[in-house]
Amino acid sequence: MADEKVKSEAMQIIGMFQVLPRLVVFDLDYTLWPFYCECRSKREMPSLYPHAKGILYALKDKGVDMAIASRSPTPDIATTFLDKLNIKSMFVAQEIFSSWTHKTEHFQKINSRTSVPFNSMLFFDDEDRNINTVSKMGVTSILVGNGVNLGALREGLTRFSQNTNAVEKNKQRWKKFSQKPNATSSKEKEDD
Ligand SMILES: [Mg+2]
Repeated sequence: MADEKVKSEAMQIIGMFQVLPRLVVFDLDYTLWPFYCECRSKREMPSLYPHAKGILYALKDKGVDMAIASRSPTPDIATTFLDKLNIKSMFVAQEIFSSWTHKTEHFQKINSRTSVPFNSMLFFDDEDRNINTVSKMGVTSILVGNGVNLGALREGLTRFSQNTNAVEKNKQRWKKFSQKPNATSSKEKEDD
């Protein structure tokens, strides 16, 4: 599918959701592109997964910010490739460094750079351990099997709005709950 066609389909998918994440964070290797960039030479011309560019452009058009969280040990190659693909300027934060943690540091840095709370972020990655760790921080995290594509985008936005609705419902429940004790305590006083 050509980039333009993917973009218009992605725009339609995004348009179906009332609540959108404020920031969408992507891993690089095996999420945006189908290789480990540490195994490649800077002189090569990289290519993305077939749907990746269309999805990035659709999010951009819809005003959703984007960032990168990658544990690549070769950030110089990664940034050279982002530059060659003409997508480097699309990301408001690019955290590319190897780490012992499974991206908790990456997300803390993204959070302090952008001030976007974790529960307003959506994250795509191909590794279970990153998904597990980052979702515990409150980020809606989606495991991709074959790179980011329109199916993963739809799944991500669905899960994000479900999580947001759950948070809202809990807030309302707490509001009711915190109002009740006053009512009960005054009643109890009457009863006493
Ligand atoms: Mg990866």
